[in-house]
Amino acid sequence: RIVYVNGQFLPRAHASVSIEDRGYQFSDGVYEVCLFLNGKPLDFHLHMDRLDRSLAALSINPPMGRGAFKVVMDQMMRRNRLRDATIYLQITRGVARRDHAFPAFPPAPAIVMAAQRFNVAALREKQKAGVAVISTPDLRWKRCDIKTVSLLGNVLAKQAAREAGALEGWMVDAQGFVTEGSSSTAWIVDQQGRLRTRRLAKDILPGITRHVVGDIAANAQIAPVEEPFTIAEAQSAKEAFIASTTSSVTPVTQIDGVPVGDGTPGPVTRDLIDRHWRHVLRETGY
Ligand code: PLP
Repeated sequence: RIVYVNGQFLPRAHASVSIEDRGYQFSDGVYEVCLFLNGKPLDFHLHMDRLDRSLAALSINPPMGRGAFKVVMDQMMRRNRLRDATIYLQITRGVARRDHAFPAFPPAPAIVMAAQRFNVAALREKQKAGVAVISTPDLRWKRCDIKTVSLLGNVLAKQAAREAGALEGWMVDAQGFVTEGSSSTAWIVDQQGRLRTRRLAKDILPGITRHVVGDIAANAQIAPVEEPFTIAEAQSAKEAFIASTTSSVTPVTQIDGVPVGDGTPGPVTRDLIDRHWRHVLRETGY
């Protein structure tokens, strides 16, 4: 496996970063996960726009332009002989003597990329069958809109889900409303048939798939209503689903052991899955 580290393509076993990298010591860095299908990126510019916003929020200068990012990502796909893959891109503030405040002289940001084969067939299976989610408290900090590598709250939510035999943990805020999944946004079709997801604010990540699915739904005359929901509302909803780069639109058929609707993927979700695949086809030819 070939990875990219600070300007070099290397076998993964030969790649290393400093123990004084601020990403390692303080989670002082950001990341993106881009999906490539058929060798082409999905929603590339939306991911790069969000990367720019994440870097700006931490006052890290973009280490290269998006044209260069694209060139490196294409190289990663080619050198690893991949057609369908996710590319993980991480940028940290760089190496400095340990001190919480930013270094007075900004170090060169550290860039790492790693590609991983993406199993489209496995995604399609999950989309057909639906997945289970569990609820778990949202333990995260107050800037979840920044895509930082500080993910311990998300890690604990996902682990709780795994231990309960569920695929995703829906994190619940102090008022009892679902914020989002540990690595996906949360959606329902409520009892009135309205497509609902939480509004964008500092308490959730502005998901790229959330944005795209919102547009797709609006074009299909089912514009989403941005209104939070509780676990009880989701359990008694007609349908529920998650959305993310790697899960696309995936039906949620069970929440804390309670079946959603009749316990199988509903018609609105299935329609959005089809429409999202058509978007993928237009973008990547897949
Ligand atoms: N919310 C969180 C916390 C995430 O980590 C992710 C993606 O990993 C998402 C939502 C979905 O975002 P996207 O559609 O950009 O993948």
